[in-house]
Amino acid sequence: MTKPVLSVIGEMKLELGSGEETAFGNWRLRQDADRIAWAILDGKGSTNTLSEAVLTDLSKLLDAIESQPPKLLVLRSAKPGGFVAGADISEFRDAKDEASVADRLREGHGVIDRLEALKCPTVAVIHGYALGGGFELALACDRRIAIEGAWFGFPEVRLGLHPGLGGTFRLSELIDPTEAMTMMLTGKSAHTKKARQLGIIEAVVEERHVRAAVQALLGKDDDGSKRGLKAAIFDMGPARKLAANRMRSQTEAKAPQEHYPAPHALIDLWETHGGDRDAMQEAEIKSFARLLMSDTAQNLIRVFFLREALKKNGVGKSGIETVHVVGAGTMGAEIAAWCAIKGLRVTISDIKLEPLAKAVKDAASTARDAHLSDIEIRDALDRMMPDPREYGLANADLIIEAAPEKPELKRDLLTSIEARARKDAIIATNTSSLELDGLAAVMKKSGRFAGLHFFNPVSKLDLVEVVSHDKATRKTLSQLNAFVTAIGHLPAPVKSYPGFLVNRVLTPYLLEAALMVDEGIDPVQIDRAAEEFGMPMGPLEVADRVGLDICLHVADSLRDNLDTPIPDVPDWMAKRMESGRLGVKSGEGIYAWEDGKPKKGKGGNHPLPKDAQDRLILPMLNAAVECLRKDVVADADTLDAAMIFATGFAPFRGGPMHYARQRGINDVVSALMELAESHGPRFAPDLGWKDLG
Ligand code: NAD
Repeated sequence: MTKPVLSVIGEMKLELGSGEETAFGNWRLRQDADRIAWAILDGKGSTNTLSEAVLTDLSKLLDAIESQPPKLLVLRSAKPGGFVAGADISEFRDAKDEASVADRLREGHGVIDRLEALKCPTVAVIHGYALGGGFELALACDRRIAIEGAWFGFPEVRLGLHPGLGGTFRLSELIDPTEAMTMMLTGKSAHTKKARQLGIIEAVVEERHVRAAVQALLGKDDDGSKRGLKAAIFDMGPARKLAANRMRSQTEAKAPQEHYPAPHALIDLWETHGGDRDAMQEAEIKSFARLLMSDTAQNLIRVFFLREALKKNGVGKSGIETVHVVGAGTMGAEIAAWCAIKGLRVTISDIKLEPLAKAVKDAASTARDAHLSDIEIRDALDRMMPDPREYGLANADLIIEAAPEKPELKRDLLTSIEARARKDAIIATNTSSLELDGLAAVMKKSGRFAGLHFFNPVSKLDLVEVVSHDKATRKTLSQLNAFVTAIGHLPAPVKSYPGFLVNRVLTPYLLEAALMVDEGIDPVQIDRAAEEFGMPMGPLEVADRVGLDICLHVADSLRDNLDTPIPDVPDWMAKRMESGRLGVKSGEGIYAWEDGKPKKGKGGNHPLPKDAQDRLILPMLNAAVECLRKDVVADADTLDAAMIFATGFAPFRGGPMHYARQRGINDVVSALMELAESHGPRFAPDLGWKDLG
């Protein structure tokens, strides 16, 4: 037996076999003395993707294996983060037509099929992620062994696609087909324990036992493939039809076919061809190629790259390791928890003790929801210290003020924070509506002060507006951008402006919905009009979730500070607030709320006015153009990204500005003019449209 060789990669030691090594481009092949061959994927960059080059190189590696089969072939990644993160999505962007996409896919299938057909047994040893094409590669092996923490998934549906390299049939052959379909339809990952339960992996080992686990396979006769009873049942057409119909109605409720064709195409694929591998393979290729050319997929792929571009705003080291949060309410508590989860040392203070106790309690559930293990949760909680006396403030690299939205209170607090903070600390405010220049004026060194506008809930909404003002230094802003990226969020640099970017664009949409209620239109119908456009929830539901008091506050501040007309909040809404009906937090607002869900009826019988959808959506586009004209945000892509990642703006439409372009600038401007004529000057097209036509 050869001695284990642990390759040291950064902090992480991975078992990558030993023996003579041959390079095949992105792959390395090692043959050890036991005639175990280790195929190690080590592509360019820090993450492995399954690009065409990786598949071509794999094909060459397979030539070598086929000519001299080892006793066992092991597939592994040399990257500390994981196995393979998925396809190289940049290759999806230059797709020209269905036929050429299908041809490229067929070549890829050819390579994966050869891996599956090898005469020697094969095992994929997986640490970290095995996603999309990476998961498909692992599925083509006879067996899969995972290191604790590994996770598997098909996120293609989020790009308007379904698996395209054999995943549709290989996963549904390996595990219960309904579970396989659920994974592919929802894009949800299976973490180690669940993957084991589902039968995706057959063993979980510690890294230091990988070699022993691999060697133990040498004596095994079977190839690990066990087809379950359920898989056999679903080989029968009627059983699949029944299940497919159920899937269809569940999917339609969450992802309507009109906007999201991919999950529906997947259900059709399985219903028609399930159990017939050859037919399903060819149908998978054709369906994938068709979907890839659709507007939905191309817009969702665009959104993927918008996310990457936002991350890049925060490259480099932030220099921030310790954070002090002032105010442990809704926002402060979750900001503190999130920073601790992401490895920073955090202290948090409040004038009251109860919010601090609640903050620590809630941090545990935030960590659990973020899939942290028990040990990781313990460590995260150890890093988050309630600090009523504010000892941590004097040592923190960054202090985030998250006290109530009262200008006087914030000004006093910021003065007091500055007096006690380290001279080189950065001071940020989470204000959502106060202009930063006014707050900066109270500070002695306002260059190190800026806005860090998180959205609620912090753990679910990735966007953070990094808000600059005239005096903020470049260094402060770039450190804050890097900090946001470091905690796994997306920094959108914006300039201080009433409502900054996101609330400036969103508020007219919420107000318009409130005005429509005033005209007697049923709230459920109004929300439905926005959902039919593709918003994840309607504006009135959003208003209830945000809190009617907060919406009112933002609307007032926009009206006071903008020269564009912002409508008054209608009386019915003001009355509701006076009676304490503020939305989710008080159990009732526009809707009554139960278990975190609004109780919505069917909606009135009156047909919705024809212009309802435009009345809701176009004010957002108009405000977006105003923000571009006023340089609140650098470009239309950042704007689109901010609206998608902060508010869920219909992602398959690619963002408000992208939607305006796809619909036609002239068309949008004439629709705004018509709306202005019938409903008032608030719809008058912004001057900035002229520069876009
Ligand atoms: P909140 O009322 O839930 O919490 C504020 C906390 O600050 C309370 O626990 C209060 O006891 C504490 N506090 C009051 N005075 C203090 C002081 N002098 N020193 C320390 N703590 C003090 O408010 P929130 O919703 O978390 O909002 C905080 C900030 O975040 C506001 O500026 C708000 O505009 C902004 N914001 C809120 C949301 C949201 O949806 N709630 C979203 C984005 C931004």
